[in-house]
Amino acid sequence: MAQHFLLSAASRTLSLRKIYKAGEDAAYETFCQMRWPETDGEAVCPRCGCCETYSITTRRKFKCKGCYHQFSVTSGTIFASRKMAFVDLLAAICIIVNASKGVSMIQLSRDLDCQYKTAFVLAHKLREAMAQEVHTGEVLGGHVEIDGAYFGGHIRPENRKEDRKDRRLKENRSDRRRVVVAFRERAGRTLPFIGRTEAEGVALAIENVDRMATISADEATHWDELHEAWQVERVNHSVCYSDHGKHTNMVESYFSRLRRMVVGQHHHVSPRYLHQYANHAAWLEDNRRTSNGGLAKALVANAMSAPASRTWAGYWQRVAK
Ligand SMILES: [Zn+2]
Repeated sequence: MAQHFLLSAASRTLSLRKIYKAGEDAAYETFCQMRWPETDGEAVCPRCGCCETYSITTRRKFKCKGCYHQFSVTSGTIFASRKMAFVDLLAAICIIVNASKGVSMIQLSRDLDCQYKTAFVLAHKLREAMAQEVHTGEVLGGHVEIDGAYFGGHIRPENRKEDRKDRRLKENRSDRRRVVVAFRERAGRTLPFIGRTEAEGVALAIENVDRMATISADEATHWDELHEAWQVERVNHSVCYSDHGKHTNMVESYFSRLRRMVVGQHHHVSPRYLHQYANHAAWLEDNRRTSNGGLAKALVANAMSAPASRTWAGYWQRVAK
């Protein structure tokens, strides 16, 4: 039997030992390379695009010879105003990409010996960087599977049976419950969205799936509408999971990863941030055959090309107010 990819040596190309052994300067160099790949790591002014800079090495800053703008390797990126050492940032990225179902913020803060709040914001910034690769704006094509799964808003049953409510009824449900509707190309990308009901997936399909595509869906009645615009294959899960090759198993395996991430690592996810976890799981799913070194490199590159985060820059300062 073929060996599972994650068991092979080819999947392990980076380790914490390597990162810390190489040290802070090497980590800094990695960030420069990823920020300015076209000049092989030489600084380019983010304001005027000039390649001529004075470098203020003691402070790891650059000053543009053209417009005198001062900037650093992380200025204007998702890591703008970072305080953490570059080597620790790289280690955080390594820990996060190594965790195939995500990692809890407590665990990350212990591994890095930083505050929980720091780990929380850092991980969310990285998820935002991953989202750039997930939400590219391109429509999905070929064979696309669609499905939805509900997350959050768990209502604990009362102790005594006579006090318990029927949690299946709409009036007894929590308003914190959300659905993740996911599309997955059989040969390609995974694209998740957050909504209130799975039926919203039809409108999302209109926006995000090519009309020439074939769609696979389960027996839920709201998917009947899809037949008007696409060639649709259906599988009735109350009968079987795969009916002569008709199935939604690939999108189900995405949900299986996301479910394990939420249940096993994060335990509670706020409806406000569910999209971040959904994107994280989609990114991991789409890159499941990439070595951990490749993943870390891609994530640093994404982070260096992602703009400063509107949600996560200065998050705790705003929360404290
Ligand atoms: Zn300039």
